[in-house]
Amino acid sequence: MESKKERYKRSLLDLANSDALVPGIYNYCDRWCERCTMTQKCLTYLHEQEMKEGSNGQSADEDNESFWEHIRLAWEVAMEMIEEDAEKMGVDLSDVADFELPEHIEAPLEVQAKTYGEKMHDFLEQNREFMAEKAEQLVMINDEASIIKYKDALEVIQWYYFFIGAKVHRAHLDLEERRNDPEDEYNVYSDNLGSAKIAIIAIQRSMDALSVFYNDFKEKEDDILKFLVELSSIKKQLLQTFPGVMDFKRPGFDD
Ligand code: SF4
Repeated sequence: MESKKERYKRSLLDLANSDALVPGIYNYCDRWCERCTMTQKCLTYLHEQEMKEGSNGQSADEDNESFWEHIRLAWEVAMEMIEEDAEKMGVDLSDVADFELPEHIEAPLEVQAKTYGEKMHDFLEQNREFMAEKAEQLVMINDEASIIKYKDALEVIQWYYFFIGAKVHRAHLDLEERRNDPEDEYNVYSDNLGSAKIAIIAIQRSMDALSVFYNDFKEKEDDILKFLVELSSIKKQLLQTFPGVMDFKRPGFDD
């Protein structure tokens, strides 16, 4: 009988051979699968769904156990596939010389983007009660449209506040070396561009969502304005640091 690991690997390879999927679509998305319009073209999503099959109705503990098992299988299968490829290429992985990863020095823009996430996190924590009171008032007057509007806007802000910092960081990895590599045989600079582009998209969506609160929550106007200015500044610097970034085609989303 097929083991869990064998099933994991087989379903991954079966899906990877499907023409219906867009290779690499998951590289420059926002990982918000519940809101994604491309789930049926995404190997990551479909594989996760396939592995979840049969686990409906599990308890929270069982769900968590499945989660960790999924992670373990993913790492084991990834390692196994690397070893298989290495063997085909005649490379002995145990014989690879030690090498040191170059130290990454954070650019000021990375720090700014990370700080935005931390400050937004704190702001939302400190204003939990305020938000709850607002929601209660809307429930009392039965204003469902506003409840949905604020809930959606809040969800967007929450999804992206740490995501932006992570993508701005990735956009800066080995930036100068990659950008100035005249050959760039494996087109690695595209990873910087794709990361910068999805960061800009996330920033714009966060700004749109914040505008909803800015227009309606006069009590919090000053704080929200500061966040809008901060995001606008990060976006402007990304556009300057990565000229032509918006022309980058993210597989599946911009083709
Ligand atoms: S492309 Fe869509 S479905 Fe796939 S990982 Fe990204 S957000 Fe999720």
